[in-house]
Amino acid sequence: MGRGKDMKDIVTIGEILIDLTFSGREQDIPVYQAHPGGAPANVAVAAARLGAKTAFIGKVGKDFYGDFLTRTLAKNHVDTSFLLTDEKAGTTLAVVSLSETGERSFAFYRKNCADTLLRREEINEDLLGHTRFFHFGSVSLTDEPSRSATLYAVRKAKESGAVITYDPNYRANLWNSEQEAIEQILSVLDQVDILKISDEELPLLTGTEEAEQGTRQLSETYHIPLILLTLGAEGAFWRRGNETGKEDGFPVRVADTNGAGDTFLGAFLSRMIGSGCQFPSELSAGQVRNCVRIANLAAALTTSRHGAIPAMPDQAELEQVLQSMEISNGSL
Ligand code: ADP
Repeated sequence: MGRGKDMKDIVTIGEILIDLTFSGREQDIPVYQAHPGGAPANVAVAAARLGAKTAFIGKVGKDFYGDFLTRTLAKNHVDTSFLLTDEKAGTTLAVVSLSETGERSFAFYRKNCADTLLRREEINEDLLGHTRFFHFGSVSLTDEPSRSATLYAVRKAKESGAVITYDPNYRANLWNSEQEAIEQILSVLDQVDILKISDEELPLLTGTEEAEQGTRQLSETYHIPLILLTLGAEGAFWRRGNETGKEDGFPVRVADTNGAGDTFLGAFLSRMIGSGCQFPSELSAGQVRNCVRIANLAAALTTSRHGAIPAMPDQAELEQVLQSMEISNGSL
């Protein structure tokens, strides 16, 4: 695949929505802030902030929030030519509550909302043949027609030679049952080149909390070339065939963990792209470790601030922090 002028580094597909995040009470009235959200949209922004050329495929409503989301992506240099607007449906909302330690819980307002209404025939096939990485999650697999649209796009992108990246992003209350969610999440794994899962999803998908054992099971069953298992404050574990490693997290004072996993993956991919590699097999073990470390650092910076997108670091900040920590990144 060549690198023509219209070539993208990363195209992401799926949900884009407003996270209504509880921010306190005023005279006993709960106050919520409207943050741009949706994991695949976040990944596109996180990678674009760090220099990757990205585009997002999805759908918003023709309303204030839809305009706000479109403008937010555009402002962050994500190509929004493939972000559609539904004339009738509303933009999806997720009410995000935060515990005192910064952990999130979600309530979705999504029935018949715009992000679920993306149709297969609305997807620009040309774009799927002009990207090095194609990223999706499982939230756009919960409802039709976005489910068929997502699966179609993944298949076409893979046929065109893109590296398929996947973050299931399990959200229990979007599925009819846990069993259905597990089946659907697992059903796409044989197409995936880079899987990003969290330590909360590993036991759900493998029946074990053990990083070594759970990732081995996934790697062997589905032939996934690279697995990235995020471990919250502990950092991340990775597996490429029989090679594994664990990179520590960076200690920060956490303000809000929203967007940490998306920043992690966006940073990992942008670092891979920066190193001139596309397929996981092209990276040396040292380069994998380095990409994971950078991803841990970028994600830690995101957790140190409120919100997801506004909290994501850009290239200049990351370089500055790296320099001040005297981390050698000469091997990339
Ligand atoms: P997700 O957001 O997908 O649930 P995690 O909570 O595992 O995923 O976080 C993703 C990454 O964000 C971690 O691998 C780590 O690099 C970083 N991170 C998350 N929480 C913290 C924390 N408390 N301190 C430092 N880094 C963190």
